[in-house]
Amino acid sequence: MTQTQYKIYIDDIIRRVEAARLKVSDHHIVKIIAISKYSTSQEIKELYEIGQRAFGENKVQDLEQKAQELEELPLEWHFVGNLQKNKINKLLDLRPALFHGLDSLELAREIQKRLEVKEMTLDALLQINSAKEQSKQGVMPEDALEIYEEIQKECPNIHLKGVMSIGAHTEDQSIIRESFLTTHKIYQQLKGATICSMGMSGDFELAIECGANMIRLGSVMFNK
Ligand SMILES: *Cc1c(COP(=O)(O)O)cnc(C)c1O
Repeated sequence: MTQTQYKIYIDDIIRRVEAARLKVSDHHIVKIIAISKYSTSQEIKELYEIGQRAFGENKVQDLEQKAQELEELPLEWHFVGNLQKNKINKLLDLRPALFHGLDSLELAREIQKRLEVKEMTLDALLQINSAKEQSKQGVMPEDALEIYEEIQKECPNIHLKGVMSIGAHTEDQSIIRESFLTTHKIYQQLKGATICSMGMSGDFELAIECGANMIRLGSVMFNK
């Protein structure tokens, strides 16, 4: 696509985000992370040129490759995938702005060890499996508060900023809404949390209405 074509798509998304956020409040600001996992470095560059700065990948090797290809641009890279233990060091070396997929105390402990060795910190979100789906990663909603506090206590090099969820995998809007509200309720109970990351191409307006202030848009953002 050309830049002009991207502008048309992006303008439409911005309008939809705007309408949804105003239903929450005039002061509800929503940040868009462009998930570039189906897109090339050239396509990322096109979006960058019309103003998008934050991008996200779900595979460490893809993040590494695209960050390298685009290293001259001041991009903010997010990692939204699930992290295997043998990829922790590689991810940390890429210094992502935010890791959205912290999904267990065990993984947090493992990351903490590596962070200590590297004398670094990592901003992260606790992923919550709010619809309790077998196919999804994340902590159970009833355990989330306790695990969040435990990570804060045990893992000083991990700076928890809030929570992340993927909406329930169904056509039923009321079930998707319920899953977002479950995550948002946990978010509101966390002291000092500032990020509630939920909503993707198919459900971002609903996520915003349920309180999301960070949305992760892949296919609609790149018009795939
Ligand atoms: C792929 C992905 C997205 C974006 O998905 P779209 O439906 O294309 O918007 C968002 N979050 C995560 C964790 C993803 O893996």
